[in-house]
Amino acid sequence: MTKQLSGKRIADVNITQPKCLNLPAKRFRRVIGKRVNETTARGKWLFTNLHPDILLLNLGMGGDLIYHKNEATIPQKYQLRISFKDESALTASFFWFGYIHLVSEKELPKHKMTYDLGISALDKELTPEMFASLLSGRRGAIKSFLLDQSNISGIGNVYVQDPLFKAKIHPLRLIPTLTPREIQDLHTSIREVLNRSLKLGGLRYERNLYGRNGNYGPENFLVAYKTGKPCPACKTRIAKIKTGSTASYICPSCQKL
Ligand SMILES: [Zn+2]
Repeated sequence: MTKQLSGKRIADVNITQPKCLNLPAKRFRRVIGKRVNETTARGKWLFTNLHPDILLLNLGMGGDLIYHKNEATIPQKYQLRISFKDESALTASFFWFGYIHLVSEKELPKHKMTYDLGISALDKELTPEMFASLLSGRRGAIKSFLLDQSNISGIGNVYVQDPLFKAKIHPLRLIPTLTPREIQDLHTSIREVLNRSLKLGGLRYERNLYGRNGNYGPENFLVAYKTGKPCPACKTRIAKIKTGSTASYICPSCQKL
């Protein structure tokens, strides 16, 4: 988004579902005429700088954010369309629980839904040392720590499974029982799994800015969603277990509690 949209000037906005907004649609129109600057991400939230405002987008349980040049490629149903002066446009469409918020740069640190998001799992500043320090003094199970977006943002239930398997850690292991070596391995595995998916354009059912589907599919998963299949390391059958409110996929031999 930073590469494709930076420098464009907003010509118009169309909002079909004002419920997704954090302010009246009329006030949202103040973005018209603004220039688009960089976009950053933390967890499910995208932050696009429209100095002096920040546009915050969250596609909720799934949706599309598509950049397009002509009407033929515009998604039929959408919540937000931003048209640019060069006649290209950005259209957001989602099913449910999506948000389109606008706050000033000054208000951003107080924005209730994003202010306590943890560092992004792919942030360069999340070094092995920082990862270890985030875990130090914590007492719960490792999986719930990783899923809690206020600790680290960007790891959901799909992407938490394989890093735990690669590091040979059971999802219910309590954080104080993890060795420095295991913590280091987990940090490495998280990066490997997320970067691999990024490289392949994300999950197959997800679409990128240009509407193209990703290539990260079941054949890339190690244990995730592979109940009954052989473990890629030891051939033991992969088990699906309940871990709190989420399901986990583990190799019972490689990931002992
Ligand atoms: Zn195994």
